[in-house]
Amino acid sequence: MMATSKRVVIVGGGISGLSAAFALLEQASSRDAPFQCTVVEGQEYLGGKILTNRRDGVITEGGPDSFLTTKPEALALCEKLGLSSQLINTNQENAQTFIYSKGRLRQFPQGLISMVPVKIGPLFHSGVLSWAGIVRMGADWMIPRRARAKDEETLAEFFSRRLGSEAFDRLIEPLVSGIYAGDANELSADATFPHLVELERKYGSLIKGVLTTQRPRLSPEPEVKPRTLFTTLRGGLGDLTASLTERLSGAGISLRRGASVRALHRLGSQADPSYRLELEEGGALEAEGVILATPAYVSASLLRPFDDEASAFLDQIPYASTMTISMVFPEPEVKRLIRGYGFVVPSAENRSLIAATWSSMKWVERAPAGQCLIRCYLGRRGREDLLDLNDSALTERACRELETIAGIQSRPLHVDVYRWPRAMPQYILGHRERVRRIRERVARQPGLYVTGAAYDGIGIPDCIRDADRTSAQLSAYLWDRAS
Ligand SMILES: Cc1cc2nc3c(=O)[nH]c(=O)nc-3n(C[C@H](O)[C@H](O)[C@H](O)COP(=O)(O)OP(=O)(O)OC[C@H]3O[C@@H](n4cnc5c(N)ncnc54)[C@H](O)[C@@H]3O)c2cc1C
Repeated sequence: MMATSKRVVIVGGGISGLSAAFALLEQASSRDAPFQCTVVEGQEYLGGKILTNRRDGVITEGGPDSFLTTKPEALALCEKLGLSSQLINTNQENAQTFIYSKGRLRQFPQGLISMVPVKIGPLFHSGVLSWAGIVRMGADWMIPRRARAKDEETLAEFFSRRLGSEAFDRLIEPLVSGIYAGDANELSADATFPHLVELERKYGSLIKGVLTTQRPRLSPEPEVKPRTLFTTLRGGLGDLTASLTERLSGAGISLRRGASVRALHRLGSQADPSYRLELEEGGALEAEGVILATPAYVSASLLRPFDDEASAFLDQIPYASTMTISMVFPEPEVKRLIRGYGFVVPSAENRSLIAATWSSMKWVERAPAGQCLIRCYLGRRGREDLLDLNDSALTERACRELETIAGIQSRPLHVDVYRWPRAMPQYILGHRERVRRIRERVARQPGLYVTGAAYDGIGIPDCIRDADRTSAQLSAYLWDRAS
């Protein structure tokens, strides 16, 4: 007997929603199961936070500019999409980063592995930490591990306890801000850096733990092209979502842009329901399987009518707002002032910038010869006020920061401002338990799932991993149940 075709709607066309659709497609073809799938995206473009802009030989990234290679999922997806040959390494000629510390740019000390400093020499030469701070950091070898049963710690508590507050404030906090745009006094160590919490449990010391478990950064297999810690696509990360989009529509998946889901209703029996999704613009879709690949606060509002508790937990995940400002400068005017990949700024310096990337030095082919592309990253939790500035005021702010920090006085030839309101989910204390409760509540709605950056990792590889896992659950529900 011919199996009936199942209907699936994926809400949200960011990397989570698109990779969930792709994984579902793979699951369906491996089972030879017919299905109809629609991805519904509120914006006019697909990709969500992944937003590449190409103009006059300049490639700007509004959101992420690269992904980690130590987590395999994004690399694997690129491989499946035939994009591996387009992946590029960070430009090794310029392999150094800076930190704005105590009034000037200093070389970021080499020898940090997984956020943990393991080499004294570079730390000493950088001048970022005092002697007392370096000695305190080394005490991590001796400080006994924390009793397991104690309460969850914030990132600030965890790193300060192990490595000292100076090492945390001056060295580690700016890296954390660069990832989460968050406040380390709120973020949960267990949820953001579980592997480090585990290293303490296992080895009693972070330094000892990373030294014991570290892997070389470059892949040792001679037949595999060595990859740097971060990679991106030659034409920008937008090529990843463009390629996914092409594959999905080629396989008959309907991609609806500019269509927002405003309400979700459950139809039929609790044991064997279907769902009705009302669109903002009018009309509705019905499906047996639904994946909400939307920010937690959107999923909260969609779930509220039939699961208040899940909705309340989702609403407890706060978000930080950020901005990126990409500016093109005439190379002769800035070249002598910039070296390496860019710099990070500790919160303790009290500046508007979180970080700046010298994009055209970090990656090849980001700007034509004679031009330099610089990307400033602003915002962070508690600095949402910056979002209210208009583009020229924001650009002015970024230029002033670049002048103070790096001595750049020239004016940009071209500027692209990207605002990201409520963009970065904050894994604050209690996050893991919150996510466990959300998943447990949502599992009570057969055929309904949530995925995305809000839950088990905000990086692109984390989103793809969660989307793959979610699609595997949905396909098992759709096709492996005895009917
Ligand atoms: C400035 C910035 C820099 C970053 N840098 C990096 C980096 O270098 N490396 C890295 O790995 N990660 C980085 N990240 C994080 C990473 O980009 C994101 O966590 C990831 O892209 C999120 O993907 P997502 O699909 O879960 O969510 P999103 O990309 O937010 O997608 C969700 C989609 O849902 C849509 N939507 C919302 N509501 C509805 C509705 N009601 N109906 C229909 N559609 C709806 C939205 O329009 C959106 O397109 C960065 C993020 C930002 C903001």
